[in-house]
Amino acid sequence: MEVYQQEKTALLKQLHVNPKKGLSATQVTDHREKWGENKLPEKKEAPYWKVFLKNFKEPIVIVLMGAIVLSLLSAFYDIQVQGHVKSGRESLYEAAAIFILIVINAFLGFWQEISARKSLNALQEMNDRHTTVLRDSKWQSIPTTEMVVGDIVNNQVGDFVEADIRWLDVNELQVIEAHLTGEADAIEKNTAPIPTEVEVGDQTNMGFSGSTVSNGQGLGVVVAVGSQTQLGDIAQMIQAVETKPSPLQNTVKSLTKTLMLVSAALVIFTFVAGIIKAGEFTFASFAAILSTSIALAVASIPDALPAVLSIVLTIGARKMAQNQGLIKSLNSVETLGATSYICSDKTGTLTKNEMTVVKYYANGFAYAVSGLGYNPSGQISSEDAPSISNSQDFLTGAVLCNESSLQKNDHGDYEPLGTPTEVALTVLGRKAGLVREKLLQESKIVRTLPFSSSRKMMSVIVKHNDKYTLFTKGAPDVLIKHSTGILVADQVEQSEQARTTFLTTVDHYADDALRTLAVGQRTLSKEEALHGTTESLEQSLVLTGVAGIIDPPREEVKTSVKTLHNANIEVVMITGDHEKTARAIALDLGIIADKTAPVLKGIDIEKMNDDELFDKVKVTDVYARVSPEHKQRIIKQLQRYQQITAMTGDGINDAPALRVADIGVAMGITGTEVTKDSADLILLDDKFTTIERAVKGGRTIYGNIKNFMRHELTTNVAEVLAILLGLLFFNQTVGHVPGTTPTLTALMVLWVNMVSDAIPSFSLAYDVPEDNIMTQKPRDPAESVLANHVWSRVLIRGFFMGLLVFLAFLWAAHQEMTSQQAQTVAFLALVYGQLWHVFDARSSRTLFERNPFENKYLVVAVLFAGISSFLITIIPFFQLVMGTASLSWPVYLLVLLVPAVPTLILSGLKELFKIKIW
Ligand code: ATP
Repeated sequence: MEVYQQEKTALLKQLHVNPKKGLSATQVTDHREKWGENKLPEKKEAPYWKVFLKNFKEPIVIVLMGAIVLSLLSAFYDIQVQGHVKSGRESLYEAAAIFILIVINAFLGFWQEISARKSLNALQEMNDRHTTVLRDSKWQSIPTTEMVVGDIVNNQVGDFVEADIRWLDVNELQVIEAHLTGEADAIEKNTAPIPTEVEVGDQTNMGFSGSTVSNGQGLGVVVAVGSQTQLGDIAQMIQAVETKPSPLQNTVKSLTKTLMLVSAALVIFTFVAGIIKAGEFTFASFAAILSTSIALAVASIPDALPAVLSIVLTIGARKMAQNQGLIKSLNSVETLGATSYICSDKTGTLTKNEMTVVKYYANGFAYAVSGLGYNPSGQISSEDAPSISNSQDFLTGAVLCNESSLQKNDHGDYEPLGTPTEVALTVLGRKAGLVREKLLQESKIVRTLPFSSSRKMMSVIVKHNDKYTLFTKGAPDVLIKHSTGILVADQVEQSEQARTTFLTTVDHYADDALRTLAVGQRTLSKEEALHGTTESLEQSLVLTGVAGIIDPPREEVKTSVKTLHNANIEVVMITGDHEKTARAIALDLGIIADKTAPVLKGIDIEKMNDDELFDKVKVTDVYARVSPEHKQRIIKQLQRYQQITAMTGDGINDAPALRVADIGVAMGITGTEVTKDSADLILLDDKFTTIERAVKGGRTIYGNIKNFMRHELTTNVAEVLAILLGLLFFNQTVGHVPGTTPTLTALMVLWVNMVSDAIPSFSLAYDVPEDNIMTQKPRDPAESVLANHVWSRVLIRGFFMGLLVFLAFLWAAHQEMTSQQAQTVAFLALVYGQLWHVFDARSSRTLFERNPFENKYLVVAVLFAGISSFLITIIPFFQLVMGTASLSWPVYLLVLLVPAVPTLILSGLKELFKIKIW
């Protein structure tokens, strides 16, 4: 017999589970052993050796391998044919050195990929979904992978069903199973066994893994996990951290491709020019020119770029996660940096979500409540009411139409359970001596119509001595439209004056930034109580009172709003709360500057067409009484203004808006699983400040990548130019240097690209943000990373650097130095020129504007690169391998200091005349 055909009790017996207690720890282990884990087969990661070997497939490495083969051939030719053992040995060393550099490069690439993978896995783990199960008589939230067959689960609206479940108890439960059945509408669930055999879509007493709870609540028992579920059957992974390349990665990919073509053209040009220059076509001349061509090929490709990019993005994402902002795709790291609008919910994000009722108006009397927080020890007082009992109806409704509870823990502190709004009412009830659990000893809740932010109310139907009463609570301005009267001095008042008094009280509360919540009630017949629809029941209410709830703004948000405004990012509040409450809090937080700022209400949005709304969104910073559905429209209009919008949300209805937003932001603590699934950024602490930090993180990462690219490309230009100038203008022997000598050898270029330049520029990627990072305008996301004079800066700086290297070489030749020494002078001029330049490259302005010691990694890397490059010119082994030679101390001093000149002069001029093109 299939699970859906069985009686609930028989099924529970078969699974050995008591639905009141759940499984015990030993049962969990047994069941896991027997039925397996709740995991779908994962995609296998490539083994380490494959990751390592992948680095040898890079085009640049293939070029270098070719170079090794040619060096070996040349060595063979020198030794065997020509009998030149010395030069043959040099070729052999060259081959060995290139090989070693390739291996170092492969290790670097391997290390980068593994760290990126680790970061991604860590992010994935943080993003693991949770579900609520009953075990050892305690409800607890566990990672969904730990669920076992037999677990009793509680699914609420906004949850995913995380395994296959047989429902045991449902309350208005509706579930969307589109992923299995293709049916997009929600399906109503029940608990009755189905005698006949039916298809998945008709198994109305079952919940299937991957479905979404769109309404109500359900209690169920897990009957299948992992690959035994219906979802496992179709082996569909429903959630994974995206590894889609970001626009920046795509740009870099195409840039590298272009540069490779340029490189190929340069190599061919050099080769032909070299042969013409040598005037002969012998193996020796061929080998000599080959060295220059290889040097050029290596020089012109910024080979580290793609690898560095992906690691910088992933590590950046990891850093953000440590700062409580969990990013789900690398794409978003980039987009975050371009954010120009942040639309935030109010409750819990901008405010503390620690609610206390401080005032209420009931039965025509005003009451004040003392005591903040969840300790129910405050006093209720009233200047005009004879006693608290005059507000009994309101208090009873507030306590019964309520799913929260308050329990004392072992330390004697009160622990709230449920949403803060409801907890505030429970605490109010306790202050008045009303305890829900006690009330429910004489009465029974027969139905609950759960709260939805679209309806802005919730109701319960209570049976007491065969009498059915509906208690509703919700937004006062909404509730009043569903009411026919107001309770004043124990009479149902239908006069306009009673309504006006009621609404004026609400307005006063809202002006004081209080959140307002009204309570109403109505007597029902049995038939209505048991079978009435939500719409028909929540009508003809008598309002018994309204509560004013304080929810203090988060202090730190004020600073965040200021920072974001300075960064030209607009902050917008979109709340379900009352217009006046919203305005008062927005004013307090600095979102709006004065009381007259416009507040757009949901009801008005409803009346507008898209074009009308388009005109409004640019001038509106506060939206009140909006439903989640309005959020989507607001974003779409902002996007029409080319704004990059981040939008927060917590409920299931927010999910579509989050998907439309450029950056969908979900609440990690209060957000539903569905919302988190649709988001790009999850705030692990639900705080607005985390969005600000994430935006700053996004800007920093983008800025660092830009600096890194600028520096890498400048080096490439300088190298290519130094070599080309040598080829074109160094044609005759000068001093001891023959006219065929290249400015730099291939190995020197390799050293610069893979060691002396790569390591410092790598640390650029981890640089601290520039101090003006949050005072600049948001970046235009359509703009290329190389826009804004990046190219001209690269070309001009590279030109002067390359020219200097060539001139240094020429000068050395004129000083009667050997070929090796002249090349060493050029090599060190290049290395030190770059090491000076790196301090300039880390600033979008100039090196004079940043403290050079801020980035400790960079300082260490520069020292390492500088010293090691010096050492390879004096240690004999390296001299032999690299073709370097030692120089005199004054020359060392010159090559250390003179290469600073282009950077210092160009930056000085830039600073003085505010020049942008370099
Ligand atoms: P935000 O959208 O900024 O988080 P919010 O929490 O006020 O603000 P909603 O959750 O949509 O937004 O609530 C809208 C209104 O519905 C509230 O102002 C309140 O009057 C009412 N309300 C909130 N929670 C409940 C509840 N549990 N039961 C009944 N009414 C509620």
